[in-house]
Amino acid sequence: LDTARKVAAKTAVMYGGSLVEYGFTRQIFDKPLHPYSRGLMRARITPDRSKDLQAIPGDSGRVQKGCVFSRRCTQKLEICDRQMPALRHNEHGQIACHRGGIIKQLELCSLKKSYNTLQLFNRLDLELFQGETLAIIGASGSGKSTLLKTIMGLEPYQDGKILFEGRQKIHPGVIGYVSQHPKTAISMRMTIEDIICEPLVICNQYDRALRKKLARKNLCAVRLPGDDGFLKQKPNHLSGGELQRLSIARALISNPKILIADEPTSAL
Ligand code: ADP
Ligand code: MG
Repeated sequence: LDTARKVAAKTAVMYGGSLVEYGFTRQIFDKPLHPYSRGLMRARITPDRSKDLQAIPGDSGRVQKGCVFSRRCTQKLEICDRQMPALRHNEHGQIACHRGGIIKQLELCSLKKSYNTLQLFNRLDLELFQGETLAIIGASGSGKSTLLKTIMGLEPYQDGKILFEGRQKIHPGVIGYVSQHPKTAISMRMTIEDIICEPLVICNQYDRALRKKLARKNLCAVRLPGDDGFLKQKPNHLSGGELQRLSIARALISNPKILIADEPTSAL
């Protein structure tokens, strides 16, 4: 890849026998449009420490129909399993993707938030693309938790816009949220089963039996017991770390597109 970068003016990226992206080498290396091109760039070891080093999920294999990359794509739609997208021009090059390239999952435009006289942020802009991990750092009291709660809709804001895939309205279950304080984020009056299944109940997803199955799977993923006895209990006896793991399992159960994790290991 480094040789291609040095010698080629233009680069074509192929996957599974099809051209998925074609354009100026510089564009493809610095701002790839296709999720596979991005995967390639991320899998490449460079001394640049600011670059994400991340594998492409899944494994290659023939697809009978649909987009050649659909099995490994994290932003695919239903159509991607049915139809191979054509290579189309856009302002940056040519790309074969039903979504037109890596989508913007979340965007904050000029967000303004204050608590009475305390102004936390003013004109805050932020972009999160599909498949990206974004870290927010700052001193305690700088407004990190408030920003996340505002994105979640738990805090009102004074001005600006919050867009999810370009829209202001968000469907329930699209964001998973792990609060910084699991003790206040989890009701001690509900059973563990009701707590972890709550996002699915709110979204009216699945029947009770399937919810329970998913609850067990997600409890297992955070190494909590998934037996009936545990599911029926109330969480009063859980330690801070166990509560936080329960909170992580609850955030993951709806298979959210965005996971917001506010110091999710603080109690572990
Ligand atoms: P961080 O997560 O970065 O440590 P927070 O977002 O929790 O910071 O808090 C940012 C500031 O906002 C702090 O000074 C905090 O005291 C203040 N704050 C947080 N919640 C409220 C609230 N509900 N009302 C008034 N001030 C608040
Ligand atoms: Mg905080």
